[in-house]
Amino acid sequence: MTKNVLIVDDSATMRKIIMRGIRQAGIDNAEFKEASDGVEGLAAVEGGSFDLILSDVNMPNMNGLDFVKEVSAKISSPPPIVMITTEGSEEVVNEAMSRGANGYLKKPFTPEKIQEVIGPLLQ
Ligand SMILES: [Mg+2]
Repeated sequence: MTKNVLIVDDSATMRKIIMRGIRQAGIDNAEFKEASDGVEGLAAVEGGSFDLILSDVNMPNMNGLDFVKEVSAKISSPPPIVMITTEGSEEVVNEAMSRGANGYLKKPFTPEKIQEVIGPLLQ
């Protein structure tokens, strides 16, 4: 069954890397929608139905932490949110989890790691 996945990242290149990584992890039922910051991401979540959200942390207009907080506050049963983070950002990860994120993927990620974190969320 097709799963709708929202990718929120201000880097178009990173969005491509994430989508390619998910396919390389053997997950072939994902259909992607892209947003370039938290504001666009929130509009997408409010106007559509998603099975999973992947969000960057550092973005203009609305960063990933505020995006998670807004989604948790405004959406009645939000989909799982997985943060895309960089090495050494444990505090940010903890903050995101306390605001409603469900997991995280550290850059650079391997197909194995993607499968481990995202696979169970898309079954
Ligand atoms: Mg960024």
